[in-house]
Amino acid sequence: MESSERPTCAIHGGTVVTGKAILPSHDVWISGQKITAIKPSGTEVPPGCEVVDARHSIVMPGLIDSHRHLWQTTLRGMCSDLIAPEYRHEVREALVPAYRPQDVYAATLAGALELIDCGITTVLDWVHILNSPEHADASIAALQASGLRAVFAPSAPNDFEATLWWSDSARPHPSDVRRLREILSDEHALVTMAFGARAPQLVQREVRNHDWKLARELDLRIVTDGGIGAGLWGGRKFPIRLLAQDDLLWPGTVYVHCNNLADDEYRMIRDSGGYISMSPCAEMYVGFGMPATRNALQAGLKPALSTDSVTFVAGDMFGTMRSTLAALRGTIAAEATDRDEGVAPWTVTTSDIFEMATQLGADALGLGARVGSLEIGKAADIVLVNTRSPRLSPANNPIATITLLATPADVSLVMINGKIVKEDGKLIYPEVDKVLDNLNSSRDWLVESQGAKLGNAARKILVSSGFEGLAMTDH
Ligand SMILES: [Zn+2]
Repeated sequence: MESSERPTCAIHGGTVVTGKAILPSHDVWISGQKITAIKPSGTEVPPGCEVVDARHSIVMPGLIDSHRHLWQTTLRGMCSDLIAPEYRHEVREALVPAYRPQDVYAATLAGALELIDCGITTVLDWVHILNSPEHADASIAALQASGLRAVFAPSAPNDFEATLWWSDSARPHPSDVRRLREILSDEHALVTMAFGARAPQLVQREVRNHDWKLARELDLRIVTDGGIGAGLWGGRKFPIRLLAQDDLLWPGTVYVHCNNLADDEYRMIRDSGGYISMSPCAEMYVGFGMPATRNALQAGLKPALSTDSVTFVAGDMFGTMRSTLAALRGTIAAEATDRDEGVAPWTVTTSDIFEMATQLGADALGLGARVGSLEIGKAADIVLVNTRSPRLSPANNPIATITLLATPADVSLVMINGKIVKEDGKLIYPEVDKVLDNLNSSRDWLVESQGAKLGNAARKILVSSGFEGLAMTDH
């Protein structure tokens, strides 16, 4: 299959994993921003066409991170030994209200480049640091500068009144979202928009109704985060039933986490045409519980995957895919052993997990016709994984190589919308060092100006990493 357009680039001789199909020794032709042909190697490439040698590579669709907080890149690793309430009260409410627009820009740009480096070509950036319109502008500008395909999802602020926004909140979603919608009105742009609604259990009933209807008025997909079904505090409040109460379960809504919903709540999401985005690594580390994989699949929902935040764990989808399958198979085997039974053959495979990290992520974000698989007519969002390495050779099983064996270090080339943004294992973005310097300066400023407000658990981590001025206190 091919279109008649002349290719501008040919990715030659790779093992092409289109999604479900594996095509050994194939070429992928690109014309401008789109894939125009996928055909067996050996076909002569038209003159003038750029050729990418993929003979020792897997050629795959870019990974899709369906929920991430890029502004938290500055806080990398700070909360890895904290439980969710410590993260929220000891770090988020302490350090974060002081974020300036330039801190949002520094973190968002560095985080976006991290994603590209890791083979992630699309992200939904759920942004809850929009303390002023300038913060929002900085966030959008950084996404647009990065070259990443992104869905910007503005939520509520994390300012000095954070508790009023995030606990039984009587405050409606900030009205600046109307201005932002005008800025991001082009649905075909690389950066588009969704509505970052606070989880139903975090806001009062009138606010839920207001916020959901505002999203509909602005024709925005709702992505709701903030611990839906997470642990006791997110699960026992029955957030999906809260929405059902007022007929707010709408098609296309993305529910983030969903670890411990009631059985009927998974069915309600399915019946309403909603999606689940799970962040298995972050969820398990921060105490949300086991990922919703099995509950979602049993209810007939196909979940998408996400990384959530590097405050807890690495922000790459390879680790996320591994954690998802490890958690599922570990649980199934432990339960079988408890019943004095052996395990049955696996019904969820590496291929299913790969789909969660690609096409199902695209579907959840409403981008499924544009990205998520390698198909003629889709955008050329393509990743090459170099298998000529001690880590990955021999590449006996391409899907397992991607889902269980590869790391971001194996991503040799990344193309987004037909443009190469990582090549020979290196980001093309100019002055990456400067981006990292700005990120570190932002971190220094935040810790030096606000560190006295941090709780002891977070303080201990920063003292151990060289911030000597942060003596332990008794608050
Ligand atoms: Zn989140």
